[in-house]
Amino acid sequence: MSALAENLATLQERIARAALRSGRRPEDVTLLAVSKNHPADTIAEAVRLGLNLFGENRIQEARAKIPLCPGAARWHFIGHLQSNKVREAVTLFAMIQGVDSLALAQEIDRHAGQRAKVVPILLEVNVAGESSKFGWDPVAALDAVNGLNALRHLELHGLMTIAPYATDPEKVRPVFRRLRELRDRCADRLGAPLPVLSMGMSGDLEVAIEEGSTLVRVGTALFGPRP
Ligand SMILES: *Cc1c(COP(=O)(O)O)cnc(C)c1O
Repeated sequence: MSALAENLATLQERIARAALRSGRRPEDVTLLAVSKNHPADTIAEAVRLGLNLFGENRIQEARAKIPLCPGAARWHFIGHLQSNKVREAVTLFAMIQGVDSLALAQEIDRHAGQRAKVVPILLEVNVAGESSKFGWDPVAALDAVNGLNALRHLELHGLMTIAPYATDPEKVRPVFRRLRELRDRCADRLGAPLPVLSMGMSGDLEVAIEEGSTLVRVGTALFGPRP
């Protein structure tokens, strides 16, 4: 077995155990393979192993790499998107996860409209209020959902967060719990479900799944350290 195949098996086991431990089905947690800094060959191997969802955080890298990857791969943008890159993002990605401002949402809506597309998005929430991170303040996100939902070329699917770095993942459990609670309040406010909770990475995915994550974004635990 290749290192990637072994890592994938270990990861699937981690996901399944965490799901079962919290009374959920393993297949209710989607694995998004974070392929930033890894070459198209690695992604092709991942596709052969059955992975089909990948995440990139830089348009420049994605623009060069995506055309070299198997057509079966689907792509989510998971970084901070600058407004001058929105036009390309709308053509390259099946979902834009890191929508962190109203201005960005409006810009995505405008470009999607020009292409007669509807773009699925997640709102990135800065739950812990870290100054180093992008994302909505939780209260501001709640107040914004109805306005965002009115943008006709966007489809709001849920929320995402990047938890603060912690050596002990238990320390960030409250962050994941608060994102889920915020998701529930946003869905109430909208009167519509917001099914996607994108939370959990290599180091903290078990805790995130126990708190309701439906999509984990995993790079290092799958591909090893980034070159
Ligand atoms: C890089 C990155 C990840 C993956 O982190 P790992 O710790 O390598 O699993 C997840 N989410 C986002 C937004 C990232 O930028």
